[in-house]
Amino acid sequence: MVGGHAASLASSAPVPLWTRALTVESRRARQLLAAGGWRLTAADAEAVGAVLARLTAPLPVRRGTEARIKATDRDRRLQRILRTAVHHLDAGAVSPPAAALLAAVARALLPWHAAPNPPAAAAAPRYGTVPGTTQGAPPPTEAGEALLPDLIALFTALAATGPGGADGPGAAPLTPPVEPWQARYAGRFRRHTRPAPGVWTAETVHCPTCGGKDGPWTVTWDGRRAALGCPCGVVSREHGLALSEIWLVLPETG
Ligand SMILES: [Zn+2]
Repeated sequence: MVGGHAASLASSAPVPLWTRALTVESRRARQLLAAGGWRLTAADAEAVGAVLARLTAPLPVRRGTEARIKATDRDRRLQRILRTAVHHLDAGAVSPPAAALLAAVARALLPWHAAPNPPAAAAAPRYGTVPGTTQGAPPPTEAGEALLPDLIALFTALAATGPGGADGPGAAPLTPPVEPWQARYAGRFRRHTRPAPGVWTAETVHCPTCGGKDGPWTVTWDGRRAALGCPCGVVSREHGLALSEIWLVLPETG
Protein backbone atom coordinates (compact mmCIF):
# COMPACT_ATOMS: atom_id res chain seq x y z
CA MET A 1 0.00 0.00 0.00
CA VAL A 2 2.95 2.28 -0.54
CA GLY A 3 1.16 3.89 -3.47
CA GLY A 4 -1.97 4.56 -1.45
CA HIS A 5 0.00 6.05 1.38
CA ALA A 6 1.90 8.30 -0.99
CA ALA A 7 -1.35 9.36 -2.63
CA SER A 8 -2.94 10.29 0.68
CA LEU A 9 0.13 12.25 1.67
CA ALA A 10 0.09 14.06 -1.66
CA SER A 11 -3.58 14.96 -1.29
CA SER A 12 -3.13 16.34 2.21
CA ALA A 13 0.12 18.23 1.72
CA PRO A 14 -0.32 21.99 1.32
CA VAL A 15 0.32 23.22 -2.19
CA PRO A 16 2.99 25.89 -2.65
CA LEU A 17 1.61 29.34 -3.33
CA TRP A 18 1.90 30.71 -6.85
CA THR A 19 3.79 33.85 -5.92
CA ARG A 20 6.00 34.46 -8.95
CA ALA A 21 3.69 37.07 -10.47
CA LEU A 22 3.18 38.71 -7.08
CA THR A 23 6.92 39.00 -6.55
CA VAL A 24 7.36 40.63 -9.94
CA GLU A 25 4.36 42.96 -9.70
CA SER A 26 5.10 44.00 -6.12
CA ARG A 27 8.67 44.91 -6.94
CA ARG A 28 7.55 46.83 -10.00
CA ALA A 29 4.89 48.70 -8.07
CA ARG A 30 7.33 49.65 -5.31
CA GLN A 31 9.82 50.95 -7.87
CA LEU A 32 7.13 52.99 -9.61
CA LEU A 33 5.93 54.43 -6.31
CA ALA A 34 9.46 55.32 -5.25
CA ALA A 35 9.95 57.15 -8.55
CA GLY A 36 6.57 58.88 -8.42
CA GLY A 37 5.57 57.01 -11.55
CA TRP A 38 2.14 55.73 -10.51
CA ARG A 39 -0.83 57.68 -9.17
CA LEU A 40 -4.09 55.79 -8.99
CA THR A 41 -7.17 56.55 -11.04
CA ALA A 42 -10.49 56.77 -9.21
CA ALA A 43 -11.35 53.19 -10.19
CA ASP A 44 -7.92 51.97 -9.10
CA ALA A 45 -8.29 53.77 -5.78
CA GLU A 46 -11.65 52.12 -5.17
CA ALA A 47 -10.21 48.67 -5.86
CA VAL A 48 -7.03 49.24 -3.88
CA GLY A 49 -9.01 50.63 -0.96
CA ALA A 50 -11.35 47.63 -0.98
CA VAL A 51 -8.48 45.14 -1.01
CA LEU A 52 -6.63 47.12 1.68
CA ALA A 53 -9.70 46.95 3.90
CA ARG A 54 -9.71 43.17 3.54
CA LEU A 55 -5.96 42.96 4.11
CA THR A 56 -6.16 44.88 7.34
CA ALA A 57 -9.44 43.41 8.64
CA PRO A 58 -8.96 42.21 12.20
CA LEU A 59 -9.78 38.64 13.05
CA PRO A 60 -12.91 38.20 15.14
CA VAL A 61 -12.23 38.22 18.86
CA ARG A 62 -13.18 34.79 20.18
CA ARG A 63 -12.53 33.79 23.75
CA GLY A 64 -12.47 30.16 24.75
CA THR A 65 -13.52 28.87 21.37
CA GLU A 66 -12.09 25.94 19.56
CA ALA A 67 -8.82 26.28 17.70
CA ARG A 68 -10.64 24.99 14.63
CA ILE A 69 -12.90 28.03 14.57
CA LYS A 70 -9.93 30.37 14.85
CA ALA A 71 -8.24 28.59 11.96
CA THR A 72 -11.40 29.07 9.92
CA ASP A 73 -11.39 32.78 10.75
CA ARG A 74 -7.83 33.08 9.47
CA ASP A 75 -8.66 31.30 6.23
CA ARG A 76 -11.82 33.34 5.80
CA ARG A 77 -9.82 36.58 5.98
CA LEU A 78 -7.53 35.33 3.20
CA GLN A 79 -10.52 34.17 1.16
CA ARG A 80 -12.10 37.63 1.39
CA ILE A 81 -8.89 39.24 0.13
CA LEU A 82 -8.88 36.86 -2.84
CA ARG A 83 -12.56 37.39 -3.65
CA THR A 84 -12.25 41.17 -3.44
CA ALA A 85 -9.22 41.15 -5.74
CA VAL A 86 -11.01 38.95 -8.27
CA HIS A 87 -14.16 41.06 -8.10
CA HIS A 88 -12.31 44.24 -8.99
CA LEU A 89 -10.11 42.46 -11.53
CA ASP A 90 -13.10 41.10 -13.42
CA ALA A 91 -15.14 44.28 -13.16
CA GLY A 92 -12.73 45.66 -15.72
CA ALA A 93 -12.65 49.26 -14.50
CA VAL A 94 -9.10 49.34 -13.18
CA SER A 95 -6.02 50.42 -15.13
CA PRO A 96 -3.66 47.81 -16.62
CA PRO A 97 -1.03 48.05 -13.84
CA ALA A 98 -3.70 47.73 -11.17
CA ALA A 99 -5.17 44.75 -13.02
CA ALA A 100 -1.74 43.12 -13.14
CA LEU A 101 -1.29 43.60 -9.39
CA LEU A 102 -4.79 42.37 -8.50
CA ALA A 103 -4.28 39.36 -10.75
CA ALA A 104 -1.01 38.57 -9.02
CA VAL A 105 -2.65 38.83 -5.58
CA ALA A 106 -5.47 36.52 -6.70
CA ARG A 107 -3.01 33.98 -8.06
CA ALA A 108 -1.00 33.91 -4.84
CA LEU A 109 -4.15 33.38 -2.76
CA LEU A 110 -5.74 30.81 -5.08
CA PRO A 111 -5.78 28.00 -2.44
CA TRP A 112 -8.47 30.03 -0.63
CA HIS A 113 -10.79 30.01 -3.63
CA ALA A 114 -12.83 27.26 -2.00
CA ALA A 115 -11.62 27.52 1.60
CA PRO A 116 -13.14 27.85 4.05
CA ASN A 117 -16.31 28.48 2.07
CA PRO A 118 -16.60 26.51 -1.19
CA PRO A 119 -18.49 28.06 -4.10
CA ALA A 120 -22.19 27.60 -3.48
CA ALA A 121 -23.24 26.10 -6.80
CA ALA A 122 -21.90 23.08 -8.64
CA ALA A 123 -21.29 25.09 -11.80
CA ALA A 124 -19.41 27.90 -10.06
CA PRO A 125 -15.76 28.43 -10.97
CA ARG A 126 -13.37 25.91 -9.46
CA TYR A 127 -9.67 26.49 -9.18
CA GLY A 128 -6.85 25.11 -7.14
CA THR A 129 -8.01 21.50 -7.05
CA VAL A 130 -5.53 18.74 -6.36
CA PRO A 131 -4.57 17.18 -9.71
CA GLY A 132 -6.52 14.00 -10.34
CA THR A 133 -9.20 14.81 -7.77
CA THR A 134 -12.07 17.20 -7.34
CA GLN A 135 -10.81 18.25 -3.93
CA GLY A 136 -9.19 21.52 -3.12
CA ALA A 137 -5.84 21.28 -1.42
CA PRO A 138 -5.79 22.36 2.23
CA PRO A 139 -4.81 25.99 2.23
CA PRO A 140 -1.37 26.79 3.67
CA THR A 141 -2.68 29.36 6.11
CA GLU A 142 0.63 30.49 7.55
CA ALA A 143 2.18 30.90 4.11
CA GLY A 144 -0.76 33.03 3.03
CA GLU A 145 -0.62 35.18 6.14
CA ALA A 146 3.12 35.65 5.63
CA LEU A 147 2.26 37.67 2.51
CA LEU A 148 0.10 40.13 4.40
CA PRO A 149 2.65 42.58 5.89
CA ASP A 150 4.26 43.38 2.53
CA LEU A 151 0.87 43.56 0.82
CA ILE A 152 -0.49 45.91 3.47
CA ALA A 153 2.55 48.18 3.09
CA LEU A 154 2.27 48.19 -0.70
CA PHE A 155 -1.48 48.78 -0.86
CA THR A 156 -1.22 51.49 1.79
CA ALA A 157 1.44 53.27 -0.28
CA LEU A 158 -0.65 52.87 -3.43
CA ALA A 159 -3.80 54.17 -1.77
CA ALA A 160 -1.92 57.30 -0.74
CA THR A 161 -1.45 58.22 -4.42
CA GLY A 162 -5.14 58.09 -5.26
CA PRO A 163 -7.69 60.88 -5.44
CA GLY A 164 -8.05 62.08 -1.89
CA GLY A 165 -4.91 60.24 -0.87
CA ALA A 166 -2.13 61.60 1.28
CA ASP A 167 -0.17 62.65 -1.79
CA GLY A 168 -2.55 65.50 -2.24
CA PRO A 169 -6.00 65.77 -3.70
CA GLY A 170 -6.13 66.99 -7.25
CA ALA A 171 -2.97 65.25 -8.44
CA ALA A 172 -3.68 63.82 -11.87
CA PRO A 173 -3.65 60.04 -12.24
CA LEU A 174 -0.48 58.68 -13.74
CA THR A 175 -0.77 55.19 -15.18
CA PRO A 176 2.44 53.43 -16.12
CA PRO A 177 2.47 51.01 -19.04
CA VAL A 178 2.49 47.28 -18.39
CA GLU A 179 4.44 44.50 -19.98
CA PRO A 180 2.13 42.45 -22.21
CA TRP A 181 2.41 38.73 -21.57
CA GLN A 182 1.84 35.57 -23.50
CA ALA A 183 1.28 32.05 -22.23
CA ARG A 184 0.40 28.66 -23.63
CA TYR A 185 -2.37 26.60 -22.14
CA ALA A 186 -3.32 23.07 -23.11
CA GLY A 187 -6.79 22.60 -21.71
CA ARG A 188 -10.26 24.05 -21.59
CA PHE A 189 -11.50 27.46 -20.50
CA ARG A 190 -14.85 27.65 -18.75
CA ARG A 191 -16.99 30.75 -19.03
CA HIS A 192 -19.26 31.26 -16.05
CA THR A 193 -22.39 33.33 -15.80
CA ARG A 194 -24.67 33.94 -12.86
CA PRO A 195 -28.25 34.27 -14.10
CA ALA A 196 -29.59 34.63 -10.54
CA PRO A 197 -28.11 34.97 -7.06
CA GLY A 198 -26.49 31.68 -6.10
CA VAL A 199 -27.14 30.18 -9.54
CA TRP A 200 -24.23 29.60 -11.88
CA THR A 201 -24.00 28.26 -15.38
CA ALA A 202 -20.80 27.32 -17.14
CA GLU A 203 -19.88 26.54 -20.69
CA THR A 204 -16.66 25.56 -22.37
CA VAL A 205 -15.15 28.12 -24.71
CA HIS A 206 -14.60 26.95 -28.27
CA CYS A 207 -12.82 28.38 -31.27
CA PRO A 208 -15.33 30.29 -33.42
CA THR A 209 -13.83 28.85 -36.59
CA CYS A 210 -12.81 25.23 -35.99
CA GLY A 211 -14.79 24.57 -32.81
CA GLY A 212 -11.71 23.35 -30.96
CA LYS A 213 -11.87 23.47 -27.17
CA ASP A 214 -8.67 21.90 -25.93
CA GLY A 215 -5.98 24.15 -27.38
CA PRO A 216 -3.17 24.37 -26.83
CA TRP A 217 -4.21 27.99 -26.70
CA THR A 218 -1.83 30.90 -27.03
CA VAL A 219 -3.04 33.45 -24.51
CA THR A 220 -1.98 37.06 -24.84
CA TRP A 221 -2.82 39.97 -22.56
CA ASP A 222 -2.07 43.58 -23.43
CA GLY A 223 -3.17 45.13 -20.17
CA ARG A 224 -6.75 45.60 -21.30
CA ARG A 225 -7.92 42.43 -22.99
CA ALA A 226 -6.95 38.81 -23.26
CA ALA A 227 -6.94 37.06 -26.63
CA LEU A 228 -7.03 33.33 -27.26
CA GLY A 229 -5.05 31.97 -30.19
CA CYS A 230 -6.31 28.61 -31.47
CA PRO A 231 -3.95 26.08 -33.11
CA CYS A 232 -5.97 26.62 -36.34
CA GLY A 233 -4.59 30.17 -36.47
CA VAL A 234 -7.68 32.11 -35.41
CA VAL A 235 -7.28 34.64 -32.60
CA SER A 236 -10.44 35.30 -30.62
CA ARG A 237 -11.11 38.33 -28.45
CA GLU A 238 -14.85 37.76 -28.21
CA HIS A 239 -14.58 34.72 -25.95
CA GLY A 240 -16.51 36.35 -23.13
CA LEU A 241 -14.14 35.09 -20.44
CA ALA A 242 -13.38 37.18 -17.40
CA LEU A 243 -9.67 37.72 -16.88
CA SER A 244 -9.72 35.55 -13.75
CA GLU A 245 -11.24 32.69 -15.75
CA ILE A 246 -8.16 32.74 -17.95
CA TRP A 247 -5.42 33.80 -15.57
CA LEU A 248 -6.29 31.50 -12.67
CA VAL A 249 -6.21 28.31 -14.75
CA LEU A 250 -2.83 28.97 -16.35
CA PRO A 251 -0.07 26.82 -14.88
CA GLU A 252 2.69 28.45 -12.89
CA THR A 253 5.72 28.71 -15.14
CA GLY A 254 9.28 29.79 -14.62
ZN1 LIG B 1 -9.63 27.08 -34.21
